[in-house]
Amino acid sequence: MTTDNSKGQVSNQLGVYSTVEEAVKCGAAAQTRYQQAFGIEDRTRLITAIRDKVMELSEVLGQMAVEETKLGRIPHKVAKNQLAAMATPGPDSLRTEAVSSDAGLTIEERAPVGLIGAVTPVTNEVPTIVNNAISMLSGGNAVVFNVHPSAKNTSAFIIDELNKAIIAANGPADLITMVQEPTLETLQEIAKAPEVKMLVGTGGPGLVNALLRSGKKAIGAGAGNPPVIVDDSADVEVAGPFIVAGASFDNNLLCIGEKEVFVTESKADALIESMQANGAYLLNSEQAAKVTELVLTADETQETAKPCSYGMDREYHLRKEWVGQDASKILAAIGVETESQVELLIFETEFNNPFVQLEQMMPVLPIVRCKDFDSALGMAVEAEHGNRHSACIYSNNINNVTKFAKRIGTTVFTQNGPTLAGLGYGGAGTTSFTIAGPTGEGITTSKDFTRVRRFAMAQGGNRII
Ligand code: NAD
Repeated sequence: MTTDNSKGQVSNQLGVYSTVEEAVKCGAAAQTRYQQAFGIEDRTRLITAIRDKVMELSEVLGQMAVEETKLGRIPHKVAKNQLAAMATPGPDSLRTEAVSSDAGLTIEERAPVGLIGAVTPVTNEVPTIVNNAISMLSGGNAVVFNVHPSAKNTSAFIIDELNKAIIAANGPADLITMVQEPTLETLQEIAKAPEVKMLVGTGGPGLVNALLRSGKKAIGAGAGNPPVIVDDSADVEVAGPFIVAGASFDNNLLCIGEKEVFVTESKADALIESMQANGAYLLNSEQAAKVTELVLTADETQETAKPCSYGMDREYHLRKEWVGQDASKILAAIGVETESQVELLIFETEFNNPFVQLEQMMPVLPIVRCKDFDSALGMAVEAEHGNRHSACIYSNNINNVTKFAKRIGTTVFTQNGPTLAGLGYGGAGTTSFTIAGPTGEGITTSKDFTRVRRFAMAQGGNRII
């Protein structure tokens, strides 16, 4: 039902507004009520209601997301929704610190920032909303989203459901709002609104740069291009299936997903065999060239090569229609039929290949044979392009593991398992869908959306006169 009204809310979906002005105004009013009248126990109750609602709807949301965005795979979308719902830390992750001495008592607590403006990617549409909402509301904030336009209907659906769940748990309306038709202009309006105290963006470099130019405190979670090293000491029976699982998860849409492999000569054949035995299809050079022509475009350029370039005379870009598509669909498009289920396409290539340099976000994984560990290390660090995002190594040599971790300095670093383990999926610990490399917060949690506030009892608590 669509009921345009003077307040700007254009549908019966709670929190979804036709204008930035209304989405911001209602969000700011909700945050004031939340901060003044709701305590930590209330926050915990509301976050539990959010978690329960997302778990209840995780499958429907996965289906809706794939239907609307035409990207990724339903079971993996469902898994991401559930991960965001259950593994995002809540209010109990916030710590109050106390210092006492003869001079008095000082308490430092994590206080809300206020209304936060947040931008979401198409690749993790629902889980970013859920993860950001749990983190931000846990810190006592409200959030106004400028969601990715290609996921706006699914986003509106979950925001409506979350607001209903919060209200049913006796919380205030409008703690989570969004603009119904998000554009770059609506983001500018959100960024300029005085009620919005902080900006958080999860997406590519264009978004992060735009937020950093806003003049407001901004947290930017940007692109990755995670390399994998497989060294002489690696167990390829472990590495093969895990690399296939990681690089094919949601058709490699994830920023942390494995994007290129550097394997030492002694393990290369065995690794490729192990990957083939676990759902990977090995493209020959002719097939790899056909896939490249299908899914990438090349601009001739006179300029010096950029990080995502291949050679000095061409700059490659992804063809959008192939991002997040199934491996079998890509194979069929180059005329290859297979009987078995194909999860991932792999091929051997050189360091300069565009699939090594670009964040391809599709289940096509280049493998570079290296003469030794040090050569693999140098290439892996270069291919990560200083994003400080994610990296992975299969090795039983702790010196190699340490050397790689120190040299690459990524926020997520995994040994002998997919990078997903670093986000609490198949590994210990909590999750985040906003990994802030460019602005330095790393794995964001509720404390990143708070400020330190002090209460001080002065002069040892004594009247001095
Ligand atoms: P995208 O940058 O195209 O879009 C992300 C969001 O930013 C969208 O809402 C979009 O409308 C907006 N946007 C895009 N360009 C903008 C600009 N110039 N000014 C203002 N807003 C702009 O990215 P995407 O395709 O939705 O998502 C994939 C990208 O996001 C990949 O690069 C991936 O690595 C990255 N990502 C990073 C993280 C992380 O935690 N670091 C998580 C998920 C995705």
